[in-house]
Amino acid sequence: MLEKLLAVQELDLEIDRLDRLAQEVPQELQAARTLVQTRIRELTDAKARVQQLHLSMDQQELELKALTQQRKGDEDRAGASDNPREISALQSRIESLAAEIGEREDSTLVLIEQWEQAKEALKQMGAALPQHQEELDHLEELERLRQTKMVKERAELVAKRDLVAREVGHDLMRRYEEVRRGRRGLGVVRVKEGGRCGGCNMGLPIHVQQKVRQGNSIVICTSCGRMLI
Ligand SMILES: [Zn+2]
Repeated sequence: MLEKLLAVQELDLEIDRLDRLAQEVPQELQAARTLVQTRIRELTDAKARVQQLHLSMDQQELELKALTQQRKGDEDRAGASDNPREISALQSRIESLAAEIGEREDSTLVLIEQWEQAKEALKQMGAALPQHQEELDHLEELERLRQTKMVKERAELVAKRDLVAREVGHDLMRRYEEVRRGRRGLGVVRVKEGGRCGGCNMGLPIHVQQKVRQGNSIVICTSCGRMLI
């Protein structure tokens, strides 16, 4: 009977192994998921930058318009005035306005250049994303297939295991389940050469070894509590 229990255990260990495998995400898939997430985040940031630059350009344009109007007003007033002191004051203001307008125009050019570059970067990022996404989709599909295969394999193992477990009988199975829990999945182990427990490797007393050999009763390792065969 214990030989049959050992067969159940082998199947149980195989099922445990499958369960661990099913929980593991393949490294390549994990890397691809991270890559796509990162690229999407970068793309979002790049979009925000393009928008921000465009806003700054609009703002700059408005301010430039206001300064230009102000200069035009000063020029008109200077042209209409016959007061030399007023004309002189207006002219010095016109000069400083002109300097400021020049500076603003320069920085507008810089902004336009940055905007063009940001748009180009965004375009390139947008173009690269579908390929990364496609690679990820492919790996996700492979993972789905792997999982499906494992589910099928597991179901077959469980069916096989339940068949043998039925032969072992309810009481012994329950005992085995209890022992195996928390003992690396091993509820029943063979006595190794030199009379050592196949689970914990402790030396077994001679009378225990003899009892195991007789095979009339369930013998437990006094050190680890596993059933011995
Ligand atoms: Zn032991």
